[in-house]
Amino acid sequence: MAWTWYNSRLVKNKDLTENVKHIQLQMETNDFEFKAGQFITMDLPIHEKRLKRWRSYSIATSPHEFSNNILDFIIAGVPDGLATKYFWEEMELGANIKFKGPAGVFHLPKVELENDIVFICTGTGIVPCLSMMNQLHQSGRKYKNIHLIFGTRWLKNIFVNSWLKKVEEEFPNMQCTVALSREERHINPHPFEITYGYVQHSIEENYKSPRENVDFYICGWQAMVDDVSKNLKAYGYRENQIHVELYG
Ligand SMILES: Cc1cc2nc3c(=O)[nH]c(=O)nc-3n(C[C@H](O)[C@H](O)[C@H](O)COP(=O)(O)OP(=O)(O)OC[C@H]3O[C@@H](n4cnc5c(N)ncnc54)[C@H](O)[C@@H]3O)c2cc1C
Repeated sequence: MAWTWYNSRLVKNKDLTENVKHIQLQMETNDFEFKAGQFITMDLPIHEKRLKRWRSYSIATSPHEFSNNILDFIIAGVPDGLATKYFWEEMELGANIKFKGPAGVFHLPKVELENDIVFICTGTGIVPCLSMMNQLHQSGRKYKNIHLIFGTRWLKNIFVNSWLKKVEEEFPNMQCTVALSREERHINPHPFEITYGYVQHSIEENYKSPRENVDFYICGWQAMVDDVSKNLKAYGYRENQIHVELYG
């Protein structure tokens, strides 16, 4: 199926941390539909060759809160990245950005959610999980228990602090664990649970004994996604309980 290309304009560009920004794109049309968890692919002015200009980004907005044709994205910079250079040094408010999509199968099934759901993510891999959790909460759709396990290096890197706090306080049956891989100080109390180490440790602690009634949604860079998937299979989970989105 040929994807539709959309024209959009940059209407917000805000730094969330040193290395992470929140941008908003406003589309010209109002016929855009997507599922929470999906991504779009931007054609950025970063290379002469078309295919080398394309970069994918998960949609942070949930379909329920989508209005005024505005989509939110959370973008992390990478060393020597071409898109990174564009986003941090060249892009200006009002810039035209063309994108295609939505795409991807990293979203919740349409059928009744009978299993617990565990979202496992690192860095901006939290974005599609955030959209799915918001959508569940805002739409009033029934779900069992949700556990978000979010890995990042330092406490200061958590770019969704207030959202995590809100989830703990206001979203029924949703729990967040933040795994800090480099932090040595023990910072407590905190509105969400903090563990020290990689997401893998947190998963081992909570999910080592396999059960039928749980589905895992894993999103981030390849090393983490591969390692977590491998561990879950070794614990005895079935392939169809494990859903992944690879960022690269
Ligand atoms: C389906 C999908 C959804 C995505 N959603 C998001 C999102 O919501 N937010 C987001 O920030 N990114 C997301 N990405 C990643 C994004 O598409 C780009 O890969 C990222 O922004 C880096 O692009 P760049 O042009 O700056 O780097 P490039 O120019 O492509 O890469 C420059 C160099 O950095 C290396 N590199 C790339 N990534 C990393 C990294 N994480 N750490 C260290 N080195 C790296 C590359 O191997 C290369 O050597 C997504 C990717 C996919 C496939």
